[in-house]
Amino acid sequence: MPPFDVPHFACGCGLSGCLDTVGAARGIERLHRLLHGADLASTAIVAAWESGDGAAAQTVDLYVELVAQPLALVINIVGPDIIPVGGGMGNAPVLIARLDAAVRARILRRIDRPLVVPAQLTVDAGLIGAASLGFSEGLA
Ligand SMILES: [Zn+2]
Repeated sequence: MPPFDVPHFACGCGLSGCLDTVGAARGIERLHRLLHGADLASTAIVAAWESGDGAAAQTVDLYVELVAQPLALVINIVGPDIIPVGGGMGNAPVLIARLDAAVRARILRRIDRPLVVPAQLTVDAGLIGAASLGFSEGLA
């Protein structure tokens, strides 16, 4: 895919252009809207890509390009052994495998196993983490 001018989308943190604005499930929806003018749920975009849809493939190509490079930079600096992907994207294992391959091609270490993987708790990770913190702090 040729270079594409992606605007700095407003982020929920109050800044703009954060990786989360394109890397999360809403992010791939923003990218699809930007490229194709179509409002589709992230699950529909991923399903269309998996069934060979060309427009969805362009969106996924841009998504992987935008997310893999900064993720590889963080991995090179921090050196984690695993990058669990939670939230809505945690339910897209084929897309995560594609992202994992792109990330591992860009990092300094050579790793012959998946590094970017679906989180075990997928969409409930934040909720379970908050509950766990509450229990450990004696709040419940
Ligand atoms: Zn932000």
